[in-house]
Amino acid sequence: MNLLSLEGKTCLITGSSQGIGFQTANLFVQHGAKVFISSRDENSLNLALEKIKSNYPKSEIFAIKCDVSIESEVKLLFQTIFKTYKSSLDVLVANAGILESSLIGMVTKEHLNKIFSINTFGYIYCCQYASRLMMRNSMGGSIIGISSIMGLSGYSGYSIYSGSKAAIIGVTKSLSKELATSKIRVNCLSPGYIQTNMTQGLPDKNKEEVMKMIGMGRFGNPQDVANAVLFLASDMSSYITGEVLSIDGGMAK
Ligand code: NDP
Repeated sequence: MNLLSLEGKTCLITGSSQGIGFQTANLFVQHGAKVFISSRDENSLNLALEKIKSNYPKSEIFAIKCDVSIESEVKLLFQTIFKTYKSSLDVLVANAGILESSLIGMVTKEHLNKIFSINTFGYIYCCQYASRLMMRNSMGGSIIGISSIMGLSGYSGYSIYSGSKAAIIGVTKSLSKELATSKIRVNCLSPGYIQTNMTQGLPDKNKEEVMKMIGMGRFGNPQDVANAVLFLASDMSSYITGEVLSIDGGMAK
């Protein structure tokens, strides 16, 4: 029996038009899942859909536009998933997120609202609707949040982002207790520095500083994270819940 197989499972990955989410969608399809990808920009989302379909022509994959910070859009996303298969959801990867720096003295209310409404409220909305759907399933399900090393140990100039990611850990831990009796596992990942569009624009000075902190001497790539997501989504981790798994190449915390 292949415990890593996602054959027959319906999975949603938010923020999957690029980066970690896109790589995860490819890996899930490769492992037999029915996959819903989702993000805000329709063009890049459709482009991602076409790429995955051309990589895996027999895949069952759908794209639904959704901004996770808008509750009504999240509700519609989950309603559409339910209508498509008339069945439950098995896996949620709540990956959508944004990174912006902010020195504390310069933080505006707009910045605060933007970061928390996408990174934290978006996670909570998705957990709410996913858990309701998963409860229809006697087999339970798996929810995977994407926190960050900054949510665990912080980084100068990123207090708001770090706070939004630390909140994901608290929500994950409590939800894992609340949903365990429904056989819904809730875990999150704490990636270190992963090479995606999110990090490519960071100043070279920051990149050099971060590289010195990484024991394994290389930045991570989206596949490194996707592999860990697959583990938490699959039956390979069937007795693991409430955990925060670091994917950071031994980065100093
Ligand atoms: P990218 O910027 O490459 O991708 C982010 C994805 O999220 C895009 O598909 C984007 O599409 C989508 N997205 C952004 N805002 C929203 C929104 N409001 N609603 C729905 N989708 C949204 O980032 P990464 O792949 O690097 O990051 C993925 C996750 O991993 C994020 O949560 C990030 O915080 C976390 N992370 C990343 C690290 C890294 O080093 N890269 C380290 C630690 C954590 P669109 O803009 O079209 O909506």
